[in-house]
Amino acid sequence: MTDCLFCKIVAKEIPAEIVLETDRALAFRDINPQAPTHVLVIPKEHHPDAAALAEADDGLADDLLKAAHAVAVQEGVAEAGYRVVLNTGPAAGQTVFHVHAHVVGGRDLGWPPG
Ligand code: 5GP
Ligand code: ZN
Repeated sequence: MTDCLFCKIVAKEIPAEIVLETDRALAFRDINPQAPTHVLVIPKEHHPDAAALAEADDGLADDLLKAAHAVAVQEGVAEAGYRVVLNTGPAAGQTVFHVHAHVVGGRDLGWPPG
């Protein structure tokens, strides 16, 4: 997609601090981190949200979850615990409509989320 912020990050047209890259996924630090570790993990292919990704049914959702876990291990938060969040739709606070998993950790995380 030409007018998508995260597609532009995939294309390296917009800079980002990339922490992991696989064939099908890219992980980079959130520009406005909410915790010591706050990384966004996205499929390189454009899907607007988690629902669309699930419907794609080609293993890409698997790849995304595996990449999210790999990021948590790499960031050193896997053992203590971390959260993977997929805000889906406006009521959930989704603001960028290229599906992204937030990997958040490095501090105690309250529940329920706001
Ligand atoms: P959402 O609210 O859609 O779940 O999350 C979007 C996230 O993208 C936010 O946490 C926001 O800080 C992050 N974000 C927005 N623009 C950029 C950007 O240009 N670069 C990076 N690295 N993160 C961004
Ligand atoms: Zn996109």
